[in-house]
Amino acid sequence: MQKLQGIAVSPGLAVGEALVMDNEGFRIPRRFVARDAVEDELERLDQAIRAAGSEIERNREAIFRELGDQYAAVFSAHLQMLRDPALRTELDGMIRERHYSPEYAVSRALRRYAKVFQTIESAYLAERANDVIDIEKRLLRNLLGCRREELSHLISPVVVLAHNLTPSETASLNREFVRGFATEIGGPGGHTAIVAEGLEIPAVVGTGPFLTDVSGGELVIIDGDHGLVILQPDEETIAHYRYEAEQNKTRAARLETLRELPAVTVDNVRIELLGNIEFPHEVAHCIERGADGIGLYRTEFLYLGADTEPDEQVHYEAYANVMRQMHGSPVVIRSCDLGAEKMAFDAEAARNPTLGLRSIRLSLKNLPVFRTQLRAVLRASVLGDLRLMFPLIATVLELRQAKMVLADVMEDLDEEGVPFNRDLKVGMMVEVPAAVLMIDRFVDEVDFMSIGTNDLTQYTLAADRSNKEVAALYSSADPSVLRLICIAIEAAGHKGTPINVCGQMSGNTLYTMLLLGLGLRRFSVTPSSIPEVKKVCRTVTTAQCQELAAHVMGLENARDIKNYLREELSKILPELVT
Ligand code: PEP
Ligand code: MG
Repeated sequence: MQKLQGIAVSPGLAVGEALVMDNEGFRIPRRFVARDAVEDELERLDQAIRAAGSEIERNREAIFRELGDQYAAVFSAHLQMLRDPALRTELDGMIRERHYSPEYAVSRALRRYAKVFQTIESAYLAERANDVIDIEKRLLRNLLGCRREELSHLISPVVVLAHNLTPSETASLNREFVRGFATEIGGPGGHTAIVAEGLEIPAVVGTGPFLTDVSGGELVIIDGDHGLVILQPDEETIAHYRYEAEQNKTRAARLETLRELPAVTVDNVRIELLGNIEFPHEVAHCIERGADGIGLYRTEFLYLGADTEPDEQVHYEAYANVMRQMHGSPVVIRSCDLGAEKMAFDAEAARNPTLGLRSIRLSLKNLPVFRTQLRAVLRASVLGDLRLMFPLIATVLELRQAKMVLADVMEDLDEEGVPFNRDLKVGMMVEVPAAVLMIDRFVDEVDFMSIGTNDLTQYTLAADRSNKEVAALYSSADPSVLRLICIAIEAAGHKGTPINVCGQMSGNTLYTMLLLGLGLRRFSVTPSSIPEVKKVCRTVTTAQCQELAAHVMGLENARDIKNYLREELSKILPELVT
């Protein structure tokens, strides 16, 4: 049994067979072959070895011509490994006697070899592990025909293990079959993490390298509550996790009874609980949990994973779909927040994409694309209580520019006689420290505000939200971040501008009392968090929360703050403390 510590990004437990995707996204779908297919499978392996051998020979010749024998030697070594009779005997044995598929046999055998190299304390030999993995990939590519298997085409339950999953790959995971996933890289605030939570798939990211230690089909445990990945678990551990998973279900069922009850504190202060969504189908999750509305619709997901750029009608249909499902409850549509790790528009080419042309900056630079979205938003605004929000606003001029484009699009629609809500409420995300420092100017310019703690944390601490190397620094509990949140809530309260928090922090019950104590009365959270946040609200008084917040604001580091919040939460609702 091997336990790996990663970063817990989506709660829940999963026990299931591994589907291993390496950097190139191969999966090893079949473990076994039928007895009467063994000869054909051996022939397939033969062909794959021959094809891989020819490829390596071609590479060797090309490199020999360009760089000489010294560099070509590495390919000779690869050929030697590939054609090693001992390897061939081992693979044949697995296929003949254990009826493994050639893919599975290749993966098992070569990953075992790689592991042996890796465990020897010699940098030279550790490097050889990469050569073995290279051969594995080459063979798999030949066996699987070079396809990148679509994760959406699964037919049996699995736990996905990958080097990395992009937000759109994560979004395409089929919830029916993907019980959980773990990735070697990734950080706590990345969009892969956010999408996993939205899909309610237990997930752990940033474990560091482990894919060579596991083969497809092996049993793996994902503990999304504690950030653990357990390879080759023993019977006792499996039994423990199966029991815990059942307990989780019972707890969730108990919380479901809160659905019809309002989120009010013990001293009768009504709290608004809104849902965050990435796709229209997630509206159902919000309704199931009794959300008061949609506080954040991340529309950039219309672009991610789409083959073509969405046109006005595609935008409109998505928004109309959400509006119709929400039956007049508020829906905040955020204009596209593309760029940085959410990709598109060549963000990869930027040297420092999070500080580059992303989000509203990108929209203001690509006016036709921005206008297309705004037209669709305005057309959908007659279908209910739709509100529009601009992301990543850093300066007042930027906000005014965005509002001017909106006014211009309104004029166009007017001329065309297309109906829309002239009094559309317009808000902004507060997620750049500059916006907090200038908040007194912004409160006069918008109808509402939403604090994006994911980016606010990243920009305040200069710590990439999706980089595991700085995950310890990236904490919304840092007093610097809390001070900014406090300033924003106070300034909005002073002016009477409605404000909520829609970053991941607001769905984490560790922070509910603190945010209430800082004066927050609206939370926009991942739908699955609504029942637990509501439970906390219904258990506390605002005076009690204010006292807690005053104590927290006197502490000087994130670790002490988290420990204190954990202690306080465990006093009132110990079952919520993981
Ligand atoms: C945030 O930054 O907190 C936020 C809610 O927006 P996103 O996570 O989409 O950047
Ligand atoms: Mg953001």
